[in-house]
Amino acid sequence: MLTQDVQANIGKVLSFLRDWDRGDRTVRGRMLNTFLSQNSGKTFYELELEFAQVASLFLARVTTWMRLTYMFGTFLGLQLKAIGVFLSASSHDQYLVEFVDDGGVLTLLEILGHSKSKEEDKREALCLLITVSNAGRKYKEFICESNGVKVIAESLATSNTDHNQETARALFESLSHGNPKYHNQIYKGLIALMICSSPKAQQLVLFTLHIVQSKMKTAHHSIVEPLLNMLRSLHLEVQDAAIDLILLLKSYDVRLVLLSGLVALLGPSKENQHQNTEESEMTKMTGSLPMFVQQAAAAKTMRLLAEDSREVSQELLSLGVIPHLLFALGNRDHTDTQIQASLALQYFVRSYPPIEEHVRRVTGSTLYAALMDKPETLYMNMSETQADILLNNKLDIIMSRLRSVLEKGKRVGQEVVETAKPKRKKSETVVKDEETINASLSTYHNFSDPADVVRLRSHLLSWYDKEKRELPWRTLAVTESDLNIRTYAVWVSEIMLQQTQVATVIDYYNKWMKRWPTVQDLAAASLEEVNQMWAGLGYYSRGKRLHEGSQKVVSELKGQMPNTVDSLLKQLPGVGRYTAAAIGSIALGHVTGAVDGNVIRVLCRLRAIGADSTSPAVTEALWSLANKLVDPDRPGDFNQAMMELGARICTPKGPLCSQCPVQTHCRSYSKVHIKQEKISQKLLGKPGRKPSTLPDIEDCINIETCLLCPSEPWNDELGVQNFPRKPAKKPPRVERTLTCVVIRVGEGGEDEYLLTQRPNKGLLAGLWEFPSLLLEEKNSEVKQKRALCADISKLTGTNLTESLFQYVGEVVHIFSHIHQTYVVHSVCLKDSDAQTQNENAQWLTRSALQEAAVSTGVKKIVKLCDSVDEAKEQTFKDGKRKKLPDMKNDKKQPTSKKPKLSATNVGSRQLSLNSFFKTVKEESD
Ligand code: SF4
Ligand code: ZN
Repeated sequence: MLTQDVQANIGKVLSFLRDWDRGDRTVRGRMLNTFLSQNSGKTFYELELEFAQVASLFLARVTTWMRLTYMFGTFLGLQLKAIGVFLSASSHDQYLVEFVDDGGVLTLLEILGHSKSKEEDKREALCLLITVSNAGRKYKEFICESNGVKVIAESLATSNTDHNQETARALFESLSHGNPKYHNQIYKGLIALMICSSPKAQQLVLFTLHIVQSKMKTAHHSIVEPLLNMLRSLHLEVQDAAIDLILLLKSYDVRLVLLSGLVALLGPSKENQHQNTEESEMTKMTGSLPMFVQQAAAAKTMRLLAEDSREVSQELLSLGVIPHLLFALGNRDHTDTQIQASLALQYFVRSYPPIEEHVRRVTGSTLYAALMDKPETLYMNMSETQADILLNNKLDIIMSRLRSVLEKGKRVGQEVVETAKPKRKKSETVVKDEETINASLSTYHNFSDPADVVRLRSHLLSWYDKEKRELPWRTLAVTESDLNIRTYAVWVSEIMLQQTQVATVIDYYNKWMKRWPTVQDLAAASLEEVNQMWAGLGYYSRGKRLHEGSQKVVSELKGQMPNTVDSLLKQLPGVGRYTAAAIGSIALGHVTGAVDGNVIRVLCRLRAIGADSTSPAVTEALWSLANKLVDPDRPGDFNQAMMELGARICTPKGPLCSQCPVQTHCRSYSKVHIKQEKISQKLLGKPGRKPSTLPDIEDCINIETCLLCPSEPWNDELGVQNFPRKPAKKPPRVERTLTCVVIRVGEGGEDEYLLTQRPNKGLLAGLWEFPSLLLEEKNSEVKQKRALCADISKLTGTNLTESLFQYVGEVVHIFSHIHQTYVVHSVCLKDSDAQTQNENAQWLTRSALQEAAVSTGVKKIVKLCDSVDEAKEQTFKDGKRKKLPDMKNDKKQPTSKKPKLSATNVGSRQLSLNSFFKTVKEESD
């Protein structure tokens, strides 16, 4: 039974709702005012008490009215405030749920996007959205899914009140604490906002981006250009926020693009002239000021970056920062540029002593002293002539000055320095820095123009899209949506492709993936099965490592394949720098270059790198080039395209330059053609004329000391194949191995062969082979035969003597580093004699032998035995003696001894395996 009070309250609420339903807008306006004055700040329970437990009926009415009338703005402010009373009523989220269900959030977003909405109504709407967003993850998701990010971003960009911009920013921040699934949406929304014209909004966007970026594992390349453009803002707070964000981005994959962009901003190149329309307007008003401001900010940013990380400072050096800083130093039109360039230059000179001499020679000793003493006031000491030297001589002149400085410095300076100064042993760091700098001073081996990089990507990828081969792992990498399976599939392909040709791998790959489609399937297989599957593919430890890796993934990583380049490298056995980068880019889309043999060749030719391609300096330069070139949107395709180019066009011998999609970027191609054109001009009697059609490219400026230039002279006959140079190959080790095919008749009457297992480590680890013994020169062959015979006797429990061994022939098998010759013998045992208990030995029938995990060498031995069989059978059939097939060392075959056929000695006559056993069986029957 309800009390009288309760009944009265219900009556009051029903009458209130009836008044609302029947009332016109004036009545409703009055009711809202009354509601606000009596209920603001109440909790859920207080509101429910006031409204007889049905307060949400009123909320629903206000929400609906707002949806219908927000476009006209009728009492919109009051409605928003009233809804605010409900949504902020603490301790319960019932009102929130109902508000969202009634379409309230969508209406708030519409209010924000409506051009006629008043700023104060937008502010209320933003505050309500913050309340909704702060209520929990599912509400944040709802806002994001309702196109909220775009609407809020537009509101932030177009609002002209600080309060609203600040509230929109707070809303973004709140949303960024939600489901990572939406981070990207928020992130990209913020990046799009960076070009907005309001400095306040720009600053807020940068703050929020900082927060969002730090939650993300990667950065999107589209952030780079607007961020660099923000450095030209005349509002220092915007510039500072942009610098802070750049400092954060140094740990992300866009670092190299960002660094090259910063270097380019120092001038004197076209890159520091890119500007959007708004900025062009600004430039009209303020002349070159924004560009100079940006130049100064770039110099400052680079100093801060370099001070923060030695790795980054070395990267800046390799991007040629020094001549660019020297250029900026000469900008007498902008004092701050000179100050910032001096500070940065001083930092680099102090940190990398080898630069000192070069900078001193370009600046002159007075200016240099000022630079090192008081960089902040150096601009005061700079004469017009000094500035002209730095400024008016474009970069190439500065570069050529540096070159002559280096060349002269090397000859003259050495003498002076060596006699004047006591000799000091250079520390390893200095030597390394010197190497970095020497390598970096030449842009010849680099891609310094970002536009050139973009064109190269586009040329290569267009070619790849048309010409690529359809390969099973490529198909899987595109069609497999399960990230774990995709990573596994690419891992398997990359391991199989290590040192094995694509054509050979395809079949093995298909069979493998059919049998073990997931990492869990592979982990459950036995090593024996894996070896069996791998048989014939070579480099057997690869299969074993895949197997080991799969078991590690299942037992230690909960079945989840590592999903970063770093973790792939650290956690999977057999995965090195290249393989991790290839899997990371192809399967996971990480933006990283991948340098394999094909890519080494292509890059060396593209940038005329002719030093030993295995040296540390070249290796690092190639990785740095690959990282710079890789397409940020299609890293996997780009890396595969480079490899495809190396495999099909830029081949080791006979490269097809006329069909090459990146020919216009290729330094070695230009070099060869300029040389050819010069020769033909000479022949035509026009020496000295400049080639007309091909650009005259500069040679490496530091050819004598450069760690990337060829140390051997150019060979005209080789053309582009002058690049790359490999170190002289070590000749393969020559080995001879005594092998004995031991045969018995099995219980079923079938021929059986004795196989022993190789050790678990080293060459052909864990594979099965015929009993063998490495021949050593110091021991006689007879002695070694005896030793092998003893081993076989032990294994089979028989009492063999080496005289029973029948010479069959020799088989040559070439491993990458061993030239192996198997000296093959055979011996037949009586079935009863031949038992073996050893777990590393087994008897296999011919069909089992074909399926077993044996090496190609063993297969070749079986083939040899078969060919001998056939020849012998033919001889017996013809009833006359025929010449045996051409086998090595035929002359060594024992022919003097007539065989005496018995179960234990079938031997001094050469018999085929089959006929041999037929004979034995006949005898033993
Ligand atoms: Fe290789 Fe010739 Fe292409 Fe240069 S132009 S990348 S050498 S195929
Ligand atoms: Zn060079």
